[in-house]
Amino acid sequence: MPDLFSNSDIRAAFYRSDGECECMKNNHKHSGRCNSLNIYNMKGMEIPGGWEACQIAAEKPLEASNCRIICFDCYKADK
Ligand SMILES: [Zn+2]
Ligand SMILES: [Zn+2]
Repeated sequence: MPDLFSNSDIRAAFYRSDGECECMKNNHKHSGRCNSLNIYNMKGMEIPGGWEACQIAAEKPLEASNCRIICFDCYKADK
């Protein structure tokens, strides 16, 4: 998917996530926060460690606070 966020916003969001998936969707396999391990240089990869940066609220500005770091399993589950 095309990157909506700047590299610096994605980096800030990734550091905030502690390298773990921030998905909170309760219709996924995890309960509560997913916390799957993401690896920074594996963005966009469809293997364990891969992840994407997703916009949380469509009506909010594209900045780090509106960017959620999502592991690839969760990203695929939402498609
Ligand atoms: Zn996840
Ligand atoms: Zn999830």
